[in-house]
Amino acid sequence: MNIDENLIEDAITDRTRAIVPVHYAGVSCEMDKICELAEKYGLYVIEDAAQGITSSYKGKALGTIGDFGCYSFHETKNISMGEGGAILINTSEFGERAEIIREKGTNRSKFFRGEIDKYTWMDAGSSYLPSELNAAYLWAQLNNIEKIQQQRMKNWTLYFTELSELAEKRFIDLPSIPEGCVHNAHMFYIKSKDLKERTELIDFLKKENVHVVFHYVPLHSSPAGNRYGRFHGRDIYTSKESERLLRLPMYYGLETSEVKYICECIKKFYFMKEKIY
Ligand SMILES: *Cc1c(COP(=O)(O)O)cnc(C)c1O
Repeated sequence: MNIDENLIEDAITDRTRAIVPVHYAGVSCEMDKICELAEKYGLYVIEDAAQGITSSYKGKALGTIGDFGCYSFHETKNISMGEGGAILINTSEFGERAEIIREKGTNRSKFFRGEIDKYTWMDAGSSYLPSELNAAYLWAQLNNIEKIQQQRMKNWTLYFTELSELAEKRFIDLPSIPEGCVHNAHMFYIKSKDLKERTELIDFLKKENVHVVFHYVPLHSSPAGNRYGRFHGRDIYTSKESERLLRLPMYYGLETSEVKYICECIKKFYFMKEKIY
């Protein structure tokens, strides 16, 4: 589901400034190749590690490999503060500027550390600081992140095992994790044959009280994507995979019995189909 690192070079133009790899479902992009290209063309690498907290690529934590990395603590992520996130900066020259931008354009962070005796306005900025209430909510989860991750991984593995029969019979595709990548059970998805089958499956599961969702309409098909971006090359996979993908329930409180029930329902759907054909 990630960017094809072999197609990046051809898409670089004189105006290109950065490569922004998105680590979909907390599974790393091919960072060696991406960093090599960035080096060759003098580009920044900004990792969208919004879904990638605790994941790694060849032993390196996602978000720490490029010049910048971004984590999200939105309510849909592994750990959450409602709304919020973190930026990781590998290039020392940008640390101070980032502090200023998030502090409304002031050097107040320096003032609080006692490095200057009064603070003032230095640059453009806005109010990007999370409130202490939100931060406290996140803090408790950071302290329990191993427990949270273990629970998610247990459910992820159970989904994978329970549904492998359907994958072997070629009814669905399951996620695959490349060598060198450690993922974080951010999401569990399956891929149906096509859009029509996915719609039928969603309706079927709804009747069984299982709420499943699809997501991510390809950016190049959105109004802003059309205006600001372009699709380089041929759209062989992006739209097609987007139409097949279905996310199954995945959250800390999800019980083993619930995962089993969901898998039973999905199997029922496909085995009913099998009988008909
Ligand atoms: C959630 C998410 C974002 C946005 O994160 P915010 O905290 O809402 O800014 C960006 N990229 C990916 C891949 C995400 O999953």
